[in-house]
Amino acid sequence: MRVIGATIGSSADDGNRQSQVATPLSLRHKSRHNGCMDNAPPLPGHDWPIMQPGWVWLCGAGPGDPGLLTLHALNALRQADVVIYDALVQEAILDWAPQAELIYAGKRGGKPSAKQRDISLRLVDLARAGKRVLRLKGGDPFVFGRGGEEAQTLVQHGVPIRIIPGISAGIGGLAYAGIPVTHRDVNQSVTFVTGHDQSGNTPGNLDWASISKGSQVIVIYMGMKHIAQIAGHLIAAGRSLHEPVAVVTTATTQDQHVLETTLGTIVDDIAAAKLEPPAIICVGQSVLMRQVLDWQGMAAGAPARNLDPLGRGRAAESA
Ligand code: SAH
Repeated sequence: MRVIGATIGSSADDGNRQSQVATPLSLRHKSRHNGCMDNAPPLPGHDWPIMQPGWVWLCGAGPGDPGLLTLHALNALRQADVVIYDALVQEAILDWAPQAELIYAGKRGGKPSAKQRDISLRLVDLARAGKRVLRLKGGDPFVFGRGGEEAQTLVQHGVPIRIIPGISAGIGGLAYAGIPVTHRDVNQSVTFVTGHDQSGNTPGNLDWASISKGSQVIVIYMGMKHIAQIAGHLIAAGRSLHEPVAVVTTATTQDQHVLETTLGTIVDDIAAAKLEPPAIICVGQSVLMRQVLDWQGMAAGAPARNLDPLGRGRAAESA
C-alpha cells in the first residue's frame, strides 16, 4: 500500500482503511493478466473502451453498494495499472481490480487544499510514467468530489482523460432510503448544497434565503458538522420547524441508517442517535414518501406505514 505524501489520509478513519486494504495487496499482483479474475462479474458484449497507457480515467464508484457501479467503471477496474481511490470507495469494489496497484488518497472534509494539489500532481506523474490510471471517487466525480479540479489539472498538464459518471449519494443514497429526490406531488426543483466550503466553514456565498424559498427539496452533502447552523439558516429563511428531514448515513451499505426528524429537532436527534458522517441530509416533504417507499424495510417484512403520506386521498398516478 502506498500513500500519497505523509500528510494525506491522516484521520483515524482513513488510517483504519489503509490497514484493512493493505494485507491482500501482494495477492492482487499474482493474478495479473492471467484472465482469471474469480471475483469479477462478466461484462456484457459491447465495444468497451480500451484504457491506454498514460491516460487517467476519472470515475465515480457510486455511493457504496458495489452493484451501483457503472459498467464503464467495471471495465476501467479491469484494465487499470493503478487505482487511486478515496475514503468513501467500498473495499469490495477494489477487489474487482486484482491486477492493479492500489493507492489510497483518503481525504476528509475541511483539510487544506494543498493536499488536493498533491493528489492531482500524483495523477500527472503516474500518467507520465505510462500507467493506466483509474482515479476512483465516491458517488459521482463531478458532484462535490473535486473531480472537476483534478480533471482540469490533468488537462493543463497535457494528460488525456476520460470521465465516467457515477450515482451520486444525494440521489442514489436517498433512493436506498425510500426517498424519491423528485415527486410530482412534492417538488419541481431540487437543490444540492454542500455543508462546508474549502476552509471547512459553512459556505459563505450560499444564499440560504433564496434556496429556502426557491427549492422545495434541499439535499445537503457534508452537512453534519454544521447542521445546527444550516438548520438555523433554513428556519430563519422561513422553513417550518416541523419540516420533515431525513439523515441517511453510510447510505446503500450494510451499515445504512436512516433518521427521520424535523428541522426543529434534527440537532438533538442526530446527537441522540450518535450518527456520524458520511451522511446525506434531505429537507422537504419528499422525506414523507419514505412512509410508503421504505423498500428495504418492506423487504425485511415491515408493512408500509402509510400508503398516502402526502394525504392526497387519491391514487398516486391520477394527478
Ligand atoms: N462525489 C460524491 C460526494 C462527495 S462529498 C457523490 O457524488 O456522492 C462527500 C459527501 O457525500 C459526504 O460527506 C456525504 O455527505 C455524501 N456521501 C457520499 N457517500 C455517502 C454515503 N454512502 N452515505 C451518505 N452520504 C454519502
